[in-house]
Amino acid sequence: MNTSESEIIKKNIIELRKKVAEAALKSNRNPEDIKIIAVTKTVEPERIAMAVNEGIYDLGENRVQELCEKYDKINKECNWHLIGHLQKNKVKYIVDKVKMIHSLDSISLANEIQKRAERINRVIDVLVQVNVANEPSKYGISCNEAIDFIKELSSLSNIKVKGLMTIAPLAENQENVRWVFRELRNLYIDISKENIHNIDMEYLSMGMSNDYQVAIEEGSNMVRIGTAIFGPRQ
Ligand SMILES: *Cc1c(COP(=O)(O)O)cnc(C)c1O
Repeated sequence: MNTSESEIIKKNIIELRKKVAEAALKSNRNPEDIKIIAVTKTVEPERIAMAVNEGIYDLGENRVQELCEKYDKINKECNWHLIGHLQKNKVKYIVDKVKMIHSLDSISLANEIQKRAERINRVIDVLVQVNVANEPSKYGISCNEAIDFIKELSSLSNIKVKGLMTIAPLAENQENVRWVFRELRNLYIDISKENIHNIDMEYLSMGMSNDYQVAIEEGSNMVRIGTAIFGPRQ
């Protein structure tokens, strides 16, 4: 194992945990309630293992193929999160591997997950991806479609909706995207109040290396962090 590399990752994680805790305390929450997902895209298994060694057991991949390749090489106690766009024809490859899918954004995808999950007798936890800023380049349903969409999902017995996810626009200053996180949080509260059958609003997956502090201040309890743990991607 490359010692200096693992020292860097360790230092990054200590720094990250400190800033996560500060942001949590700023919003009167318990730092332990914020789950850190290490985003491992383009990171080789050897370096992923260094983060696992530091106690990070939740790992996020945005591509199915990469998740499948790494799945067998990483400690089996880890939880894999599919955080990128998911094509229907790829659901079958991950349905037995993932802890949670963060990118549910269509009924046809939901139906495919339902079908595949039912076959292996699993209930899959999912988050609904919302394109809060309505960026044409991003996936996700719009805020005003969300409640009807989630009501439709409630009849799928092998899917458990656990919350919402968003990717904020790229911003030089994270204050500029605070409104995005606030809007998702408000939507989350509105949906909770509807008390929809089989829908469990538990997680707000928002915040990446550039904007996680503001996301936590606005209520995030799941941050997806790549660069701030592993350094810049090639
Ligand atoms: C790559 C990625 C991240 C992590 O991005 P960083 O800026 O490296 O922290 C988070 N979420 C999604 C959906 C991603 O694709």
